[in-house]
Amino acid sequence: MNSDIEKILVSQEKIKETNVRLGKELTKDYADKNPLFVCILRGAAMFMMDLVKNVDIPIEYDFMDVSSYGGENTSTTGEVRILKDLDTPLSGRDVVIVEDIIDTGYTLDRLIELFKTRNAKSISIVSFLDKPARRIKHVHVDYVGVQIPDAFVVGYGMDFDEHYRNLPYVGVLKPEVYTTK
Ligand code: 5GP
Repeated sequence: MNSDIEKILVSQEKIKETNVRLGKELTKDYADKNPLFVCILRGAAMFMMDLVKNVDIPIEYDFMDVSSYGGENTSTTGEVRILKDLDTPLSGRDVVIVEDIIDTGYTLDRLIELFKTRNAKSISIVSFLDKPARRIKHVHVDYVGVQIPDAFVVGYGMDFDEHYRNLPYVGVLKPEVYTTK
């Protein structure tokens, strides 16, 4: 285990099992719909690539880069900036937003509003992690991977100041790492 990690919250085995389960649910719910999976960069990239391999129907996917946390900050500002927009028109599409984690809910709340203005036919959310203790905006998450307690996590695509994204598990960062950096 990486020495900056206090403990593992979601192991590689649990990640695999979760992707198989979510993939089956999406396969069933989106049969014959040709959904557009929208990956929210950069945190959800690893999850997205594992998830879609478990979805056994034709789909399309695209990427959007948004930022809600700036630099070394570990608390949200409520601001969501679009750093890279989608290339695919959403009008008439069944959209599945793929997120790494829902925390305050600001990011997904803003994205849902935006996608509605682009006339998506339907919008659902799949989030690998859910941290319900910190929710400010009520957002309905249709597909939840794993619920976690209120802790700052890294790994499996998620970063602290762009580090730790390549860890193959989700872990809690030792507090001294972000207080001394
Ligand atoms: P929200 O807008 O729901 O507060 O936060 C969503 C975004 O904040 C996530 O997509 C993720 O990028 C970031 N985030 C929230 N909690 C964590 C966390 O515990 N660890 C990391 N690395 N990012 C987080």
